[in-house]
Amino acid sequence: MRFPFALSAKIAAHIIKHKLRRTPRFAMVLQLEPLHTCNLSCTGCGRIREYSTNLKDMVPLEKCLEVANECEAPMVSICGGEPLIYPQIEELVDGILQQGRIVYICTNGVFMRRKLVDYLASIYSTGLEPKLQELLAEQLITDKQVETIRKGRTHSRPVIAPSKWLYWNVHVDGLEYTHDLIVEREGVFKECVEAVKLAKRLGFQVATNTTVYRETDVREIEETFQFFSWLGVDGHTISPGYDYDAAKKDMAQRLGKDPEEFFLTRAMTREKFKDIQRWGEQFTIFGTPVYQEFLAGKRELTCTAWAIPTYNIRGWKAPCYLMTDGHYPTYRQMLDEVDWEKYGVVDGVARDPRCENCMTHCGYDPSGALGTNYRRGDNWMNFKYNFWPRPPRFAEGHKVNAYNGVSIGKGHLAEAKAALKDGGTAPAADASGGCCGSGDTRERDALLEKVRTNGGKPGGGTPHVGARCGSDEPAEDETASAAGVEKQA
Ligand code: SF4
Ligand code: SF4
Repeated sequence: MRFPFALSAKIAAHIIKHKLRRTPRFAMVLQLEPLHTCNLSCTGCGRIREYSTNLKDMVPLEKCLEVANECEAPMVSICGGEPLIYPQIEELVDGILQQGRIVYICTNGVFMRRKLVDYLASIYSTGLEPKLQELLAEQLITDKQVETIRKGRTHSRPVIAPSKWLYWNVHVDGLEYTHDLIVEREGVFKECVEAVKLAKRLGFQVATNTTVYRETDVREIEETFQFFSWLGVDGHTISPGYDYDAAKKDMAQRLGKDPEEFFLTRAMTREKFKDIQRWGEQFTIFGTPVYQEFLAGKRELTCTAWAIPTYNIRGWKAPCYLMTDGHYPTYRQMLDEVDWEKYGVVDGVARDPRCENCMTHCGYDPSGALGTNYRRGDNWMNFKYNFWPRPPRFAEGHKVNAYNGVSIGKGHLAEAKAALKDGGTAPAADASGGCCGSGDTRERDALLEKVRTNGGKPGGGTPHVGARCGSDEPAEDETASAAGVEKQA
């Protein structure tokens, strides 16, 4: 089966229960943001700018567990900020699992191996020694970590252990060059890969989480799937990035520039996702095939943002994960008081101008499962997608030139970042919102421009990007596109 039977059955049962009760709106996935502190500061991340990132501003553990119960979503996606910074992340994961819910830990991957080492310590016995030696030989753990593991469990707190109800969901926006550029730190991609490898060796379920931006080259996304499929990951979440800043659109109009220079428009999203159904056959893409048809431009869907509610330090965030028009103390109050008819796009017409270009997973993926805009055959299509055999691991994934950035000496960020700071040209952060993984790429665009003009190296020159499978050198026509970041800068 493409997804574990127990998981698919749990979600199907939840939908059927509410359909039988004729519940007009209900939660499918809770996006729980226990804090907004992050160890990274990705360009375009509104989350770390819209909310306080002070570690004092956290949702207490008891409240996190209470809101999961309150909305009754069968799945909880713990995000942020970086959730592994939350001091009681283990208790939070454990508590939600005890409620019988599916947990996704959405992480940038940097601290993931530490948590995996904690798990190894918790199960340590001398019988684990051969495995530790293997992991050491593969450089997935260090000598120092082996010493820590050998001390065994030193506390009575829970640890994050493998479970069929738990997924690590690792943020990966491309191969090394692109991903490190997007997160603005060299070495992050490599750490993510090592963490994924270690997690898989320890029996965890792992997914990747990818946002497609205006400048993303979809060939690279496919290669990223190939590479991570070969590593044995259990699935991939993919969603178009999104920018709703209407003021930017006004500016574009006043300057007389083509809005497509700034926006991932619906048309652009459809173009980028035109192969998603083929990807869905080749790889374990999370999300319904109905949503995939929507992304590919083959049908319309109505936004069901209430089905993926977000809770954070200020309450239930309305109307959606992306936009903030208010916060509510309870999920029920949010459902009752928000005028949901004001949002989304119906028959190609945006009810709210900020929704115009949105096709994101958090607004539309549940629509595919909930049967909005139902077409005959949709239920069978969804059933088949979930319960049919899973696509095999991509055997040729090792041929993908995943390490096309700092690992082979293409340090391209530090110089450009320093130049931006020194010149005082870094664009101001957008205070209007956005989110973790939003499509607001203005800061990154400025960084890219510096990479382009500096060549990412002291002294400038042509940046060396985009080497493709099996080669360190880019094909001439691919120089600007394979890394998916250069040509629009
Ligand atoms: S996009 Fe995610 S990983 Fe990056 S700074 Fe924002 S919260 Fe952190
Ligand atoms: S269409 Fe997108 S931006 Fe608008 S309410 Fe739905 S999820 Fe939010």
